[in-house]
Amino acid sequence: MARARKDPPRTEEPTGAEVVPLYRPRKCAICGKPTVRPFHPFCSRRCADIDLNHWLSGSYTIPAVEAEPGGEGERRDGDD
Ligand SMILES: [Zn+2]
Repeated sequence: MARARKDPPRTEEPTGAEVVPLYRPRKCAICGKPTVRPFHPFCSRRCADIDLNHWLSGSYTIPAVEAEPGGEGERRDGDD
């Protein structure tokens, strides 16, 4: 069993022609679910509203969403 023929190196050719869809599914910035087109980059209107609320309220806090109870460990004694 003499193998004179050398097998060519097996190189996994990457699909150079990678299709880039116009809309790339991403994760919702709020809850992490796959986003949907109308609410991109969010998964739903709810999450979009939540994000909007963040900016409107000026603080990035999450209303109407599971909040961590007793998450505030910062206490300031000094007044300005
Ligand atoms: Zn979401």
